[in-house]
Formats: sequence, structure tokens, C-alpha cells
Amino acid sequence: MSNGAYTLRNLCVMPSITAPNWESMFTGVTPDMHGITENPGNNRNPIITDEYGFFPSFFSVMKKQKPDSIIGYFYEKSGRMEYLVPPETINRMMHIPDFSKDSRPVLEDITYFLKNLRPDLTCIIFQEPDAVGHAIGHGTEDYYDKLEILDKQIERIVQATKNAGLYDDTIFILSADHGGVNKSMGRDHGGDTPSEREIPFIIFGKGIKQGHVITAEVNTYDTAATIAYILNIHRPDIWIGRPVLEAFK
Ligand SMILES: [Zn+2]
Repeated sequence: MSNGAYTLRNLCVMPSITAPNWESMFTGVTPDMHGITENPGNNRNPIITDEYGFFPSFFSVMKKQKPDSIIGYFYEKSGRMEYLVPPETINRMMHIPDFSKDSRPVLEDITYFLKNLRPDLTCIIFQEPDAVGHAIGHGTEDYYDKLEILDKQIERIVQATKNAGLYDDTIFILSADHGGVNKSMGRDHGGDTPSEREIPFIIFGKGIKQGHVITAEVNTYDTAATIAYILNIHRPDIWIGRPVLEAFK
């Protein structure tokens, strides 16, 4: 965070659950527009579609405007994340079970991908700390232990970009789909409390301010617009997300 710009008050969309929120992060709009309103996300009803039958995302927009672009998509949780992107737009799509436990095989693959395909865009999606939040509790000691493990995985991913010679030209964005609460009747999320809806938006790398706390209001669909801005692609007029320009030098 000290190397970049950040807000911990990025707001996820309602309902504060997985599929609607990742899709908003990818498509720059709210669930009533992209049409994924519940988990697991394979039931979609977008108000307009791209050539793949999805709401236009930065994946399909990037492929359309820059057909030679290389995109990677690595995800830990199956039965969710594979429904949210048109596979035709992804050059390397990989399910990575237990990445947050043993990252070595995956990191080898990511390192290979970065080094040999020199991607324009890579998405890496962890399941944790959601699982520990449900199983043991959000904000518990185990929850923070898991965050420390994830922090180390991020360090390894950053190192992989250095090994691939891409680090100086890379911008990293870290966010989450939603937060969580410990309800008296079980542990959950989906509601409208700050603990469930406030998520991080952390950005660092080439051209990004250092040690800057973002004061602008940020919504999760602004991540799509920020990625379009970074990739120099024209964002569809229908998107409501706007790039977080305050983060840039
Ligand atoms: Zn959950």
C-alpha cells in the first residue's frame, strides 16, 4: 500500500456476493445491467451482449480493439469464476485449486505465462479469505493468518513479473469481491453493512502515485474503467464505471 495509491472504502455492489461483484468488476456496470444477480453466475440476463453473449467486459472489449492482446485468467474457486468471462477472449485460463495453500506449481505456470507470452492483462483470483471467513469467522485470528499467507503469494507474483522482465511496465491492482460479517445466526455476507460492502482498491506500479490515500468515492465497477484506461482501450458508453484518475501521477 505504501508503494501505491489505495482506498479501503471501495464499495461493492448489492447483493454483496461473489458472482454479481466479479462481473461488475469486469463489466463496469451494476448487476441489473450485466444481468448476473446471484451465484453461481451461469444464469445471466444482460441488457446488451457482446459477440460472446456476455455483457461487454474489459476482456471482450480488449480483444475487439486489440485482437493481438494476450490475456491470462487464473482462478482458485471453480463453479463460479469460469462462468463470468467468455473463454474465447482468454489466452491462458487455468483453474488453480488450493493456490492459497501450495502455490508452487501455479507460480511456475504463471511465471512461464508471464515470461513467454508477455501478457497485456493477467487476472489472478484467490478464494481466500472468504472460505476461512465462513468456516471460522471474518476478522478472526485465522482470518488474518490467511491474509498473511495471501500477502506472501502476492509477493511471489510480483517477483514473477520481475523474473519475466515485466515489472517496470506493470500496474498491479488488488481488490476483492465483497467483505463479510459474523452474524449471530451463522457467518455470512450478502447484506448492506459496511463490513460486507467495503473492499480494498489498491493500485501500484508504473505511473501510480506512491503512499497516496484515494479520497474519491470508488465503486467496484470503476475497476473495469481503470483497467480500460490503463490498457488504452475505449470503454463502452454504456459503462457507468469511471477510471480512478486520482491514483495516477
Ligand atoms: Zn462467501
